[in-house]
Amino acid sequence: MKTFAKVTAALRRKLGVKVVRTDDAACAAASYDSSKLPFFPEAVIFPAEEGDIGVVLTLANKHGVPVTTRGRGTTLTGAAAPVRGGWVIDMMSLNKIEINEDAGMAHVQCGANVAAIQRAAEAKGWFYPPDPSSKEYCTIGGNIACNAGGMHGGKYGVTRDFIVALRGFLPTGEYVEWGTATKKFSAGFNMRDLWIGSEGMLGVVTGAVLKLIPRPAERWTLLTSFPDEAHALKAALALFRSRMQPAICEFLDRESVLCAERATKQSVFEGQAGRPVILLELAGSKLEVQEQSVAVLAWAGAHATAHRVAANREEAEQLWAVRRKCSGAMFELGDAKLNEDIVIPMRSYVKFAQFLKKLKRDSGLHVPTFGHLADGNLHVNIMYHRADKKETRAAEKAVQSLMETVVALGGAISGEHGIGLAKTPFLRIQHPPAQVRAMQAVKAALDPKGILNPGKMFDVFHVWKHAKLDVKFPWDHK
Ligand SMILES: Cc1cc2nc3c(=O)[nH]c(=O)nc-3n(C[C@H](O)[C@H](O)[C@H](O)COP(=O)(O)OP(=O)(O)OC[C@H]3O[C@@H](n4cnc5c(N)ncnc54)[C@H](O)[C@@H]3O)c2cc1C
Repeated sequence: MKTFAKVTAALRRKLGVKVVRTDDAACAAASYDSSKLPFFPEAVIFPAEEGDIGVVLTLANKHGVPVTTRGRGTTLTGAAAPVRGGWVIDMMSLNKIEINEDAGMAHVQCGANVAAIQRAAEAKGWFYPPDPSSKEYCTIGGNIACNAGGMHGGKYGVTRDFIVALRGFLPTGEYVEWGTATKKFSAGFNMRDLWIGSEGMLGVVTGAVLKLIPRPAERWTLLTSFPDEAHALKAALALFRSRMQPAICEFLDRESVLCAERATKQSVFEGQAGRPVILLELAGSKLEVQEQSVAVLAWAGAHATAHRVAANREEAEQLWAVRRKCSGAMFELGDAKLNEDIVIPMRSYVKFAQFLKKLKRDSGLHVPTFGHLADGNLHVNIMYHRADKKETRAAEKAVQSLMETVVALGGAISGEHGIGLAKTPFLRIQHPPAQVRAMQAVKAALDPKGILNPGKMFDVFHVWKHAKLDVKFPWDHK
């Protein structure tokens, strides 16, 4: 790998040794993200102010130094791993949050934590709906770069739907602002939306204006169980057909329920052990929730094997806690996981359930699946043992078959995590050559030297062929 000792020394002279660190501890901590694939950078930049990023990028662009922007490193795809070495910019210190109560907007720096933004908004009677399960850790910059989603996507939308304006730096080091703190902006190309979901490859976002909505006054939670996955998915279709729009509609298949039950030593639904479940939450005004809950109870009576309304907020939180446990609990089924976040159009739910059944049978692997039924974003977890060559090969075949099926059914290979390194083998299943060329042309126009997050998206990388670090993050359940 090419090294850049002289340029790094020049950057340290410009910004100081506290901002530009080259010690092993800083470089090791920035060498991997939640994918646990390690690549050592040469320096880590901890900007003292937003302007430092312009200095870093101007120098990097002049000398061709690879630069990877890093939020909290919770991405599961390897998007924040400095695969070509060079420099990492750690955004965590730029974390100011200001709520404009009158306008219903949040002005944030990109290292701000997402749960902290939600809490700041709620303290003023506003609500910021995007809620990735990693929200207590991840940054809004990472959410913007990946267009993060979460459980609220079906009713409220994803990060993209709440971005009013962005500011930051082009890969050349030039400062730019996309949009203003106004709800309308039609002046010129929509570069803001081009940056959202571009996985840190088209610019470094330093600040954002976020749209807020009034905080819902009332929430109501219902747990339902079904005889099998196909029944659960059919029932969900019936719910959406009746124009119901739950704030959350989470599905857990039988394997996910069993994992959560073993991990928590509690049954997800008393008397319904091992049955697939759907957890629903209604949110809105008191009247709205009352009206909808009547219709939802009638739906549950007609479609579910059993249902139970959470008696209070505490009980509802317990149900959600079990849901959050299921992902980490899956490691009892294998020490390696191909964690996919595919999207399926609602019309294809039942066909997809049939496909999953066949995939499990043909591969001989455990494939616990859960996810957000209101937007079709399902987390399909292909579990295997890394040391077992047969299982590894089966997992590789299973993920290929999954991606081909998802696209054939009119869906997407990623709904919220993005491409990074992990999904690069499948990008061209989703996008034919003309589409890939258009994306590459945009990249070349904004980043002519290809310095920003190189080696991602377009170059093919097979995660299962690379050793992962045996490290534990605070967000790892096990
Ligand atoms: C337990 C767990 C649960 C998760 N649940 C969800 C979920 O429900 N929904 C969901 O969508 N995701 C989820 N994720 C994935 C992850 O949390 C999100 O992708 C999140 O957006 C990453 O934010 P981060 O701050 O950790 O960014 P990082 O992981 O540090 O970086 C992610 C990408 O963003 C880029 N980037 C970061 N900051 C900037 C910036 N300021 N400017 C430009 N580029 C930048 C990086 O270069 C990289 O490409 C989960 C992850 C874990 C570990």
